[in-house]
Amino acid sequence: MTSKETQRQILLTPGPLTTSASVKETMLRDWGSRDSAFIAITAGIRSHLLDLANATDTHSCALVQGSGTFAVEASLTTLLHRKNHHALLLINGAYGRRIQKICEIAEIKHSVYETAEDTPPDINVLHAKLQDDSDITHVVAVHCETTSGILNPLTAIADVVAGENRKLIVDAMSSFGALPIDLKMISAQAIIASANKCLEGVPGMGFALLEKAAVSNTKSNASTLSLDLLDQVEYMDRTGQWRFTPPTHVVAALGKALEEHAAEGGVAGRGKRYANNCQLLVDGLKTLGFSLFLDDQLQAPIIVTVRMPTDPAFDFDKLYRLMNDEGIVLYPGAVTQEKSFRIGCIGQVFPADIERTLGAIGRALGEMGVSELELAP
Ligand SMILES: *Cc1c(COP(=O)(O)O)cnc(C)c1O
Repeated sequence: MTSKETQRQILLTPGPLTTSASVKETMLRDWGSRDSAFIAITAGIRSHLLDLANATDTHSCALVQGSGTFAVEASLTTLLHRKNHHALLLINGAYGRRIQKICEIAEIKHSVYETAEDTPPDINVLHAKLQDDSDITHVVAVHCETTSGILNPLTAIADVVAGENRKLIVDAMSSFGALPIDLKMISAQAIIASANKCLEGVPGMGFALLEKAAVSNTKSNASTLSLDLLDQVEYMDRTGQWRFTPPTHVVAALGKALEEHAAEGGVAGRGKRYANNCQLLVDGLKTLGFSLFLDDQLQAPIIVTVRMPTDPAFDFDKLYRLMNDEGIVLYPGAVTQEKSFRIGCIGQVFPADIERTLGAIGRALGEMGVSELELAP
């Protein structure tokens, strides 16, 4: 490999993201899927993930091969019956819309409460919708909507849903491991996330913490074999093994990543580093003259959406290339309301990396001859 290929990449993206050298090194050996050491890693991961959400007594951990979306689709299609259930989807970005698409394809009965991409759902409106429509059995919410980086009010949502005696399913993909989720404090039938976001593992598997009652009392509603999470949990509980070929290297890497997560101080420690990264980034971008898409109090410490400057000298593709040459990877925008780009604060990224990023952006602006940034909207 050339030095360029081995150079540390700083991925300021919403995942996959920068991982530690020790997590990558874990993948240098092969594991047999029936090997007792591998079975122990799987068991350790399942109990560690439950522990992170204070859910050991109440939930079971289902692991599933694939990217995060596979875990979302598996959870929804396992838990929701096409006719007997009715899900209210809270949408304010692309991941909420993806959940809607999953429901459409699986023909799961659903309705939508959509707000603008810079606006969390109004808890009173949610309450009224649940009171008005007794047909609704579930609410599906996205914790941090990574499209913009907005933090949706999980506790308030969970309280209203529980108060109205409905079930809550949460896509916590980009928050799990960095923002507190305590399933003794809030009630949720499922919390869904993946290995390669705030847990800093590598991509290739997701998981769902499923309420034990849902696992033991419910007949699976799955319409596919490979995404049937109840079958996966039952098989893992019984044999300690995955039903089908596990992503062994990914599993081993997640085991190591969870050790490092604990060594950093668990959810609190990880969340603190990300919050520091985010604050430095937000302050630095504002100092450079950029305007940010979200109000500060809505910003989750995960990813920052930057309004595209209107100065004609500003060229995002050029900025992207100049940064890439320095091993720093930015991310295009995803909000539909206006042109933007994104800079993530998660992964093995530290304040010095953010300082370096801000310095490189400043130099790139100079090179592009951008001078009127402060006039951006
Ligand atoms: C990353 C992410 C997902 C899953 O995306 P994949 O590309 O399938 O890994 C789902 N929801 C949210 C909120 C995410 O940030």
